[in-house]
Amino acid sequence: MNPYRNYIGGDWTEGQDAADNINPSDTRDVVGMYARANRADAEAAIAAAHAAQPAWAATSPQQRADALDQAGSEIHARRAELADLLAREEGKALPDALGEVVRAAQIFKFFAGEALRSGGELLPSTRAGMSVEITREPVGVVSIITPWNFPLAIPAWKIAPALAYGNAVVFKPAELVPGSAWALAEILSRCGLPAGAFNLIMGRGREIGDTLLGDPRVNAVTFTGSESTGRKIAQACVSRRGAMPKFQLEMGGKNPLVVLDDADLDVAVSCAINGAFYSTGQRCTASSRLVVTERIHDRFVEAMIERMRGLTVGDARAAGTVIGPVVDEKQLAQDLDYIRIGREEGARLAAGGEPLAHIDGKPGFYLQPALLTGTTNTMRINREEIFGPVATVIRVRDAEEALAVANDTEFGLSSGVCTTSLKWAAHFKRHLQAGMVMVNAPTAGVDPHVPFGGRKASSHGPREQGRYAAEFYTTVKTAYVQP
Ligand code: NAD
Repeated sequence: MNPYRNYIGGDWTEGQDAADNINPSDTRDVVGMYARANRADAEAAIAAAHAAQPAWAATSPQQRADALDQAGSEIHARRAELADLLAREEGKALPDALGEVVRAAQIFKFFAGEALRSGGELLPSTRAGMSVEITREPVGVVSIITPWNFPLAIPAWKIAPALAYGNAVVFKPAELVPGSAWALAEILSRCGLPAGAFNLIMGRGREIGDTLLGDPRVNAVTFTGSESTGRKIAQACVSRRGAMPKFQLEMGGKNPLVVLDDADLDVAVSCAINGAFYSTGQRCTASSRLVVTERIHDRFVEAMIERMRGLTVGDARAAGTVIGPVVDEKQLAQDLDYIRIGREEGARLAAGGEPLAHIDGKPGFYLQPALLTGTTNTMRINREEIFGPVATVIRVRDAEEALAVANDTEFGLSSGVCTTSLKWAAHFKRHLQAGMVMVNAPTAGVDPHVPFGGRKASSHGPREQGRYAAEFYTTVKTAYVQP
């Protein structure tokens, strides 16, 4: 019997079939066989969540806090084992995988506290003697659909607030990373949640997505993934008959990191190396466009090439690996395609960009981080999300042109500026059109207790994380009371 089954209504159930979970650092290594759900499984999970939600919402906030706190403690205690699993199935270098696991634990702990802090407002009415109460109630059943690039942290930052505010969850992780999702579900299955409050269904989005979005018992949909899937999800939500589900979308990015003439070169290069290439560049907040003013340009490019020589590519779990493999064959082909397209458009491949079929005898999806110089912001490599260890350099005249180029994109998730000038730091902080602005820091790497999200084609709906998560996972009620 397959050990890695779906979790529906408090039971571990077989799916319609199962799929191998392959290690991208060594494609001979099968992490496990994980069940794949069909529509009937998805319907069963929604029915279980629908049945469980009122009782879960009626529990005391202390009970919800205790459940989330227990999950956070166990994730933290088992961080080495969970990081190993994450690195093995996704290819994230072990130190980054460990950071992600610890972050997931912190998120559960944070929302354990938020369950107790949820309150409302009491105002006098404009009508004499009357008062007005503003309270927050759970939205109900939440479908959670997540991408592969943060297999534990993104599920954590959706599941923890959903449960904290009294919602029931149907969680569908990305096909490529069922291992971390299953481990998280197994932990949650022992945290004192009533049967049905949390459900895991592993499977293909295009097969069970319709059910997760279209079932009238689903009250809200939270999605992180690509822009094209996000648009399909939005269409399905708005065209649903009857009540539309509340929906929230976090999608792609084409994040600029601006380096001004007065930047500290070491700081700028460190920000660019980390932001562009760590986690194999597979972060929605990755610095994919390096917008550099002309007086620092040549020194910056030279220093980047030098630093890139020290980025050891290898098995995600091997000591000394800085850059793990690309997640799968399809993503590797996409990265290589964009490098080719960039060169055809006139960019120069200044460093890296070589695929490596084997490292230390292990067959994997390895790619040497690539730097493309001499690019313009109209090239496809600067308009479309690549989602790999591929960064471009765009040379600009001055700070004002840098700002215009940085903002000239459909996306608006993260952005950054490296400068030692207070004036320019303030100017970019004010005028960069993105949900997040980093000053002398990589565009990727965020805190768990403050809002996360973007603008333009990167996001739709309320922010995630921190106290702002309540906007999505609760609905506001205004009650007028005449004693
Ligand atoms: P994806 O859009 O291919 O898949 C995301 C999820 O959607 C998966 O679980 C998939 O099974 C599901 N899905 C696919 N088709 C569906 C459908 N028709 N109905 C319902 N669900 C469906 O994205 P991916 O390749 O897993 O992740 C990479 C993308 O995620 C990148 O574009 C990246 O920028 C984005 N991302 C964004 C953020 C953010 O916060 N903005 C964070 C991480 C990743």
